[in-house]
Amino acid sequence: MKRIAELIADKRNGGVLSPADIEALIGAYARGDVPDYQMAAMAMAIYFQGLTPAELEPWTNAMLNSGEVIDLQHIAGAKVDKHSTGGVGDKISLPLAPLVASCGIKVPMISGRGLGHTGGTLDKLESIPGFSTNLSVEAFKEHVDSIGAALIGQTGEVCPADKRLYALRDVTATVESIPLIASSIMSKKLAEGIEALVLDVKVGSGAFMRSIEDARELAETMVGIGERMGKRTVALLTDMSQPLGRQIGNAMEVRESIDILNNKGPADVRRLTVELAKVMVELGGGNPNEVEDKLVSGAALSVFEEIIEAQGGDPAVCHNQDLLPEAAHRVPYPAKQGGYVTAMDTRRIGLAAVVLGAGRSKTDDVIDPAVGLEMAVRLGDRVEPGQPLLWIHHNGEGLDNCHQHLDAAFGLGESADPIPELILERIG
Ligand code: URA
Repeated sequence: MKRIAELIADKRNGGVLSPADIEALIGAYARGDVPDYQMAAMAMAIYFQGLTPAELEPWTNAMLNSGEVIDLQHIAGAKVDKHSTGGVGDKISLPLAPLVASCGIKVPMISGRGLGHTGGTLDKLESIPGFSTNLSVEAFKEHVDSIGAALIGQTGEVCPADKRLYALRDVTATVESIPLIASSIMSKKLAEGIEALVLDVKVGSGAFMRSIEDARELAETMVGIGERMGKRTVALLTDMSQPLGRQIGNAMEVRESIDILNNKGPADVRRLTVELAKVMVELGGGNPNEVEDKLVSGAALSVFEEIIEAQGGDPAVCHNQDLLPEAAHRVPYPAKQGGYVTAMDTRRIGLAAVVLGAGRSKTDDVIDPAVGLEMAVRLGDRVEPGQPLLWIHHNGEGLDNCHQHLDAAFGLGESADPIPELILERIG
């Protein structure tokens, strides 16, 4: 392999890396032989120069093969997973995994932590007292077999290259890159032993892809990788021009997820959970008409309780939400003028939650599971001056910074603008 600095310079100058160099670089990074500062420079070079299709394939394969590729062939039934490209208030994986498992489809899910302004499934789950996302591969397989679903993170064993690079990109402004997102997501998903995959590709002010054209390109890139690897892959392009649901923040999003499984909760979270579940069940050869029944009957909630118990958490949270962490203070963030809510800078709303402690600014920052934002309005609502746009749940950290983000986050106008559809397109 060339010297790392030479590879970085080649990419910075718009060159094409060879498959052998890519494999050696990713392998060395996963083993800890390439320092973060060099990988951060490489990620920034890729952010600006991209990766050609001839580079993306070996890059994804090297990430995938940096650890164990889980084999679930001995487990009966179809194995299907879903992954979101990341949004604000996007807690869908929490109700979705048990819902799909309750329909008889196995859901082996490798998820991520908060990334940039977006929240992460692992951080949310870990706000449940005792819950561990750090299972051994053996325990992961056992739970998928017996319960129907398990949710873990990248580990030293599975996708170690993504574990390190994901955390590094989070704090080096190198997230919003189609090849880096596509390889990060697809390497984790291809390591899970699944047969089919549903991708929720977010579009809008709170997504990494702001335009429908970029979101489509990301979706097509990932669907292409999945199909070439022999996995049935479908992407839904879904709206992220406002937060999903009302709750943003780790324990707060767990509460909203439990509400969904109790057949309550916001309509948009319920609808997206049900629609994604139907596609997963369809790809797994099951009956999509069962999905609503499993939600209404409480069958999906029972599976969530089993998952929580198996992963060391306290399933009583499903019936007593007081057991979840709660911030000491809840204060309103009032509208400075009256009018219709015409726009939200959803990325800013996500960052306002991060600075309270819901996400990280440095890789070793510790999350405060209790803090976050509770939305009081949606696009198209009319507000009077002084009416709360949202409620801030805080523990005394980051309040000034939070206000700075929120001051720039809402557009109010004389008349209501059209509101984007929740589900925009299906690809694959
Ligand atoms: N989700 C991932 O797993 N990786 C990314 O890069 C973005 C979203």
